[in-house]
Amino acid sequence: MTMINSSDNFGFEVTSTVPGGRARTGLITTPHGTIETPAFIAVGTKATVKSVLPETMAALGAQAVLANAYHLYLQPGSDLLDAAGGLGQFMNWPGPTFTDSGGFQVMSLGAGFKKVIAMDTVGITSDEVIAAGTERRAHVDDDGVTFKSHLNGSLHRFTPEVSMRVQHEIGADVMFAFDELTTLMNTRGYQEESLERTRRWADRCLTAHAQLTAARADRPYQALFGVIQGAQYEDLRRKACRDLEALGQDRPGFDGYGIGGALEKENLGTIVGWCADELPEEKPRHLLGISEPDDLFAAVEAGADTFDCVSPSRVARNGALYTRDGRFNVVTAANRRNFGPIDPDCDCYTCAHYSRAYLHHLFKAKEINANTLATIHNERFVIRFVDEIRAAVRDGHFDDFRRAFLARYYGSRH
Ligand SMILES: [Zn+2]
Repeated sequence: MTMINSSDNFGFEVTSTVPGGRARTGLITTPHGTIETPAFIAVGTKATVKSVLPETMAALGAQAVLANAYHLYLQPGSDLLDAAGGLGQFMNWPGPTFTDSGGFQVMSLGAGFKKVIAMDTVGITSDEVIAAGTERRAHVDDDGVTFKSHLNGSLHRFTPEVSMRVQHEIGADVMFAFDELTTLMNTRGYQEESLERTRRWADRCLTAHAQLTAARADRPYQALFGVIQGAQYEDLRRKACRDLEALGQDRPGFDGYGIGGALEKENLGTIVGWCADELPEEKPRHLLGISEPDDLFAAVEAGADTFDCVSPSRVARNGALYTRDGRFNVVTAANRRNFGPIDPDCDCYTCAHYSRAYLHHLFKAKEINANTLATIHNERFVIRFVDEIRAAVRDGHFDDFRRAFLARYYGSRH
């Protein structure tokens, strides 16, 4: 009899490295297929990449999809996904899937702002600042987080054990440990306290994960990644890496690591680099929530293997489109009579068959196919871009590729 439920079903192999650097290529193996890294993980928050079919995502070259445990827990409920045979089966995506722990979404309710804080809050250090006009909807204590649903205001509680149960029921190939999100505005004292709380929660996640894995031995193995916090502090980031890896000393530890928390464009590469120095070479590193495609260069250079980024589909729905010559908005008047493609260098379905003028018209007329065609282009842009980064790392010309890409991408605006 073959043991399905074994960590043998999850693996990672480094296939090439840049001499003297941290950038590398690799292969992640999951029960639902492999992922060539560096890889862009498409975001399908509610078990759908908004406005496009999973079949389309596969045709675009997407290797994996990341859904959101918080959203799926509230709607339709993780028990329902369990009954459906898991996330991939439910949404008709046969490939690898990820879920984040729900921590980020729940904590965001607490502060009312996103991971990258607004400019007007820079320089303020306080644990009590919340965004103007927002109600604090989440409260953290040492055991977990109590929060109000953004859907109907109902009260819920997430603990490490609840997050593990929910993520096991959702059934993604890669899950993340439940962690506390802090922001750059929290005091150093609070960051230290929070980091220790995240370490204890990580410990509890490993225990719950082992129990759930044993109890659900008929299901495909689900890998668990620890999440590195520590904000902008080098000593805290390094300590978090060592502490989480040490949790696996006398038992199966984390299968990989997510690097989370407050990351801004300016410090992203530095922070990921500290973590890559400390984390074991043989485990994959996922950078949680990148804001813009060009951040991928810094992430790859610093040693990240996978990344999720909601921007390609989110900005597409506002008509903002990526090209090799930078980002532009197709809704502007300049595109009204432009019968050329979004990007003459793009190989996507939209660029092969539709003009800027047609997309301009669809957006102006508020037709839903505008979202579909724009999302297809932006997702393909990022997937192909990361494919090229991977090839450049493997073939030893990553620096040249980055220099040429960025010169052209920002050339028209600088
Ligand atoms: Zn295109």
